[in-house]
Amino acid sequence: MLACYLIKPEQIELRDLPIPEPSDGEILVKVEAALTCGTDLKAFLRGHSLIPMPGPFGHEFSGTIAEVGKKIRKFKPGDSVMSVHTAPCLKCLYCAKKAFNLCENLMSNKILGAYAEYILIPSHIVRQNLYHKPSNLSFEEAALLEPLSCVVHSINNINKLNLKGSKSLIIGTGPIGFLHLLCLKLKGSEVLITGLESDRLQIAKDKGADMVTPPSELDKATNDFTNGMGVDYVFECTGQLDVWERCINYVRRGGKIILFGGAKKDTIVTYDTYRLHYDEITVQGSFHFKPEDVRIALKLLRDILKTSFLISGRYPLKDIAIPFRKLSKGEGLKYAIIP
Ligand SMILES: [Zn+2]
Ligand SMILES: [Zn+2]
Repeated sequence: MLACYLIKPEQIELRDLPIPEPSDGEILVKVEAALTCGTDLKAFLRGHSLIPMPGPFGHEFSGTIAEVGKKIRKFKPGDSVMSVHTAPCLKCLYCAKKAFNLCENLMSNKILGAYAEYILIPSHIVRQNLYHKPSNLSFEEAALLEPLSCVVHSINNINKLNLKGSKSLIIGTGPIGFLHLLCLKLKGSEVLITGLESDRLQIAKDKGADMVTPPSELDKATNDFTNGMGVDYVFECTGQLDVWERCINYVRRGGKIILFGGAKKDTIVTYDTYRLHYDEITVQGSFHFKPEDVRIALKLLRDILKTSFLISGRYPLKDIAIPFRKLSKGEGLKYAIIP
């Protein structure tokens, strides 16, 4: 089978590998669609601590079951499925605390290699996070299960936010900013969104944003949007350190900042202690998702959300570097790789 390996930044190699055989509890999936992701773009441009190089590449996918190992009852060859690339171990201290997204073995047990003709799903993922694809979803839409699960975790799960009638600010108009927008509108929050490209602000308007603004006018826009009070919630979806720091300028007293966009390792930000203490502002990181978030994301994709606008184009495996070059220039949101 053909599989893309990320050798070093900017270099992807197409390798011809043997098709893996599923052991007990495992499932072999023929990939029908894999999606580019911000994490993959970071890895492509400068490497990423969670994506070893050289190594298999890609983690958002859906497909058709090619072969099942022994002891599989719920699935059979030919089934259309969607999955995420991780599942908790259910054995560690964090799993015992039900903090499944912080599972100590989550990242060492993950699967990479969605940019390939086949991907082998290990038993812990089959048991917890593999689902039949609803027939109303395309394979591309189904492959959004992973990023949407992260966004569901950001909004629903860790934060248990009181969103009805609230005012939210989303910083960032990438796919993750847009998924936050769709989910926040669904929950009844009024949304101000900011980003650099005017065509993306137009998309945000079309998708229900109550107000859009370029970053240069964010101070004034936030004042107008909230009558000078500040928003209830800020969702940081860029991972830029200066943006992390500036978030605190836009949140009201008692409000909450959710840091979704991960920044580089060993970097430090500073916050105004007066605002943190006397204004009781909460700063909360959001990482990954739990199996319950995946279940919610599946329902949202199946029943409510319209997400096909996030896919900006399609490429075969051999052209995989093209979408990453486009993304690095800010062209397009997500691309589908069709093996
Ligand atoms: Zn992703
Ligand atoms: Zn665990």
